Amino acid sequence: MPISKWKIKGIVDGFDECGCCGRRGLKRTVAMMPLDADGNEDGTAEDVVYYGTSCAATSLSWTQDKVTTTARATQAERDQRDAYARRMLSIYAPVESAPVRDKARVYYGHNHSQRDTGVKATEEVAKLLDKARATLADATTGPARPSRIEDFRRYVVISTSDDRISLVRRVPEEEAERQEQAAAAQRRADKIQGRLQVVAALAAESARDVAYADDLTREWNVKAWQAAHA
Ligand SMILES: [Zn+2]
Repeated sequence: MPISKWKIKGIVDGFDECGCCGRRGLKRTVAMMPLDADGNEDGTAEDVVYYGTSCAATSLSWTQDKVTTTARATQAERDQRDAYARRMLSIYAPVESAPVRDKARVYYGHNHSQRDTGVKATEEVAKLLDKARATLADATTGPARPSRIEDFRRYVVISTSDDRISLVRRVPEEEAERQEQAAAAQRRADKIQGRLQVVAALAAESARDVAYADDLTREWNVKAWQAAHA
């Protein structure tokens, strides 16, 4: 029996062949997961099909516009989940191997309301990290994204005296460039009487979160970076 129901999982820019009619050279394809009779996802990542918008529209009995709009919105949600996963990993992956006491302080520092509620920080951190890693490993709409501490990059973060982020820049790999950037960043920080930090994170966006975090989170962030590059 042909599958009659699909769920749009996102939009893929780098995949140009329609899995339905075989047409090639498409600008993008729509990732769709088959649904069972009850409307539940019926399969794993391997069962996802990639159709051009025209064939996707036919399969769903939708207009192409509706397919494109839905696929873009779904993809935007995926991108947000990825960004959240990178934030969680940038904050918590460095304390994964920290003593329980430090791990608990970092976790409750970010989740005040869970203190003294019986929620176990160690378990929560493990769950958060598992989920974040699974999110970034999901290859439904593109290759897996980097998620290890070894994938962290360093960022210069300058915040103003009233604690707003004023600048986030990736630290260059090359030593001379790095020194030049450090000097320029220091001048800028001095000029606005702000604070200059160097933090390690999976993305510029998550570098902000690390820069805003408590001292202990940032201490472990530095340790993790040093351990990964010793
Ligand atoms: Zn097609």
